[in-house]
Amino acid sequence: MGNCTVAIVGGGPAGLALATELKARGVGNVVVLEREATAGGVPRHCGHYPFGVWEFKRLMKGPDYARALVQKAKNAGVEIRTGCTVTALHPNARLSLSTATGVMELQAERVVLCTGVRESSRAQRFIGGARPQGVISTGALQSMVYLQQMRPFRRPVIIGTELVSFSAIMTCRHRAMRPVAMIEQNNRITVRQFMRPFPAVMGVPVKLGASKLRVLGQRLVEGIEYLDRDQNPQTIDCDGVIVSGNFRPEAALLHASHIDVDPGTGGPSVDQYGRTSDPSYFCTGNLLRPVETSGWCWQEAVECARRVADDLTLPIGNPGFVALQTQDPAIRFVLPQRLTLSDAPGAMANMQLRLSQPAIGHLTACSASRTLWGDFLQSRPERRILAPLAPMLKAGVTAPVDLSIIRSN
Ligand SMILES: Cc1cc2nc3c(=O)[nH]c(=O)nc-3n(C[C@H](O)[C@H](O)[C@H](O)COP(=O)(O)OP(=O)(O)OC[C@H]3O[C@@H](n4cnc5c(N)ncnc54)[C@H](O)[C@@H]3O)c2cc1C
Repeated sequence: MGNCTVAIVGGGPAGLALATELKARGVGNVVVLEREATAGGVPRHCGHYPFGVWEFKRLMKGPDYARALVQKAKNAGVEIRTGCTVTALHPNARLSLSTATGVMELQAERVVLCTGVRESSRAQRFIGGARPQGVISTGALQSMVYLQQMRPFRRPVIIGTELVSFSAIMTCRHRAMRPVAMIEQNNRITVRQFMRPFPAVMGVPVKLGASKLRVLGQRLVEGIEYLDRDQNPQTIDCDGVIVSGNFRPEAALLHASHIDVDPGTGGPSVDQYGRTSDPSYFCTGNLLRPVETSGWCWQEAVECARRVADDLTLPIGNPGFVALQTQDPAIRFVLPQRLTLSDAPGAMANMQLRLSQPAIGHLTACSASRTLWGDFLQSRPERRILAPLAPMLKAGVTAPVDLSIIRSN
């Protein structure tokens, strides 16, 4: 059994920023637990720009950015334990760890979970067909290309049209792979308007409205089969499939623990201080919700560090809470999911929402038939929506706060 003041699970941008800020605030023994051999998280294998603009005030490639974050944390006095996987979360900030020298327990005063997101697997996306070698995520592709200097295939198909799917094109080009198509199940490209011409500029045709995807080939990938938007069967010859995006929080530890998980985000249910249902556990970074940029996660983590430091000196405790919830089918999730009945400083300034379908209307927050806040909303799925938390916190609510969209005709 070891001891520390704050244990941070995950050494990505969020975990490292949080740890550095905690040390800057004079917190004693801050330990980052990272399962990989090197800390730095996802940016370690994003061999492209733009990283570091907020954090280091310059444009950096992912691996340089990751190294700079690690160095900054070490300089601040953070202990980074790599090759150390957290295998269980126990009540009151106790962790089980698996390391090269065996298993151990770590007792902290507070734990902060920063395990990030991952892309949905082929199985989670119901992509049928055979199981040949050569079906991988963007993360796996980036790690093969940038960390292991490998070229897993030459003519892959990319499934998905999110920002990360576009970075899969760049990763392919880096090692002379030519994607032959992008396949999107929706009827429009997911990224914002100004990015949409990018595949055409790179010479990659986009097939929209595709359904019933099947991978062809027994030992190696030989093609992909799908129904186009007119329900006609189509086949594309390729030698690899990149299953990109459709992020979900890396929440396996949470699912096996005593901590509540929010079905909307797929991450932990947190209050306005980032505390989970066990107040000795906080959470920040992309584990909170899919998916934000590294700069955003870094900023969130710095703010979370202030709350953790404050909570160590003057605990917020458990004064009760009300739910921040939605029954509106167009709202996919709201974060935080609970409002602790406390006026302790350091609460998040905004709640975050995402839609599951396009909506235009008036977003309102009501509690016990009282309207607390409202504003015009026009947004599409997967866009970041921020709304102020102060009206809810100042209103002295005692009943759940419900969010809904009153549609414009
Ligand atoms: C494939 C992919 C590409 C991306 N590309 C970009 C991009 O180009 N630009 C951008 O801004 N954002 C990108 N993102 C978003 C990315 O999530 C953020 O940039 C940023 O890395 C989030 O930081 P984080 O610390 O929350 O999570 P992460 O960077 O994911 O770090 C989480 C860390 O937790 C560790 N961990 C997980 N479970 C355990 C455990 N049980 N025990 C110990 N350690 C554990 C992981 O090994 C990892 O190092 C990408 C994400 C993915 C998945």
